[in-house]
Amino acid sequence: MAKRPVIETHIEAIIQETPRVSTFRLKLPKESDFFFKAGQFVMASIPDFINERDRPVRRAYSISSSPLDLERNYLELTITRVGEGGYFSNRIHSSKEGDLVQIEGPYGNAFTLKEENPSPHLFIGAGSGIAPLRAMIRTLLGEVSPPKINVIYGFRKTEDFIFEQEFLTYKESNAGFSMTVIHSRPEPGWNGLSGRVPDVLPTLLPRYKGEVTYICGHPEMVSGTVSYLKSAGYPEESVHKEQW
Ligand SMILES: Cc1cc2nc3c(=O)[nH]c(=O)nc-3n(C[C@H](O)[C@H](O)[C@H](O)COP(=O)(O)OP(=O)(O)OC[C@H]3O[C@@H](n4cnc5c(N)ncnc54)[C@H](O)[C@@H]3O)c2cc1C
Repeated sequence: MAKRPVIETHIEAIIQETPRVSTFRLKLPKESDFFFKAGQFVMASIPDFINERDRPVRRAYSISSSPLDLERNYLELTITRVGEGGYFSNRIHSSKEGDLVQIEGPYGNAFTLKEENPSPHLFIGAGSGIAPLRAMIRTLLGEVSPPKINVIYGFRKTEDFIFEQEFLTYKESNAGFSMTVIHSRPEPGWNGLSGRVPDVLPTLLPRYKGEVTYICGHPEMVSGTVSYLKSAGYPEESVHKEQW
């Protein structure tokens, strides 16, 4: 991938989404002409956070805000604090407002939203895989006539629902927006769907209905979802995926 310039941002706000996930709102410098397409990612690093070879520790993060948010000169990264051993994610979770974060990018041209497409849009995500999907959804809802949007989102349990309030607002204010959540580790009292995302899909998506589909999550979820969609008649070219 062709190298992009490194931009110095500072953390404007840290929004705790769930016990393990926070969104880091990064303020761009005033003169920045940074631009990206919904779905792309940046390489993030923190000044002075270097590895044993004296190189900056860098990790890829999808941009979870919309390009429309650049009007207010910021972008957002939504990062899970990986348990023991999560080198960069633990470091950034111990940051505070005002701290510097360098970003390099944007990267990734394969998993980007094709705008102004009137086809119904289907988004299938798991865990922090909702990050680039949220960027796409925010972008679509900013269009004059947004297409129909259906979101299927899998996460462990109630407390792990990233962007819950925002999605509830979309549901209440957009007749064409629908969302189904699936808990992989349901707690007593949960009456909704539970299990692995690909296992639940046959009841939700029995057959292809002309949707353009974007999937993001861990590799097992993505491959299981892609192979189910194929069996349900979704043409390969209508299905876009990202995984980590
Ligand atoms: C295109 C792309 C987009 C991404 N977008 C996002 C995003 O939006 N949000 C997000 O949260 N993540 C995203 N990621 C993942 C992210 O890049 C990092 O991989 C993630 O944050 C973990 O980095 P880390 O430094 O905290 O963990 P690392 O230190 O890299 O460790 C990763 C895993 O390996 C284990 N591990 C580390 N060292 C060892 C060891 N010696 N022995 C055994 N196990 C070990 C850790 O416990 C951990 O589970 C994305 C990845 C890609 C490729």
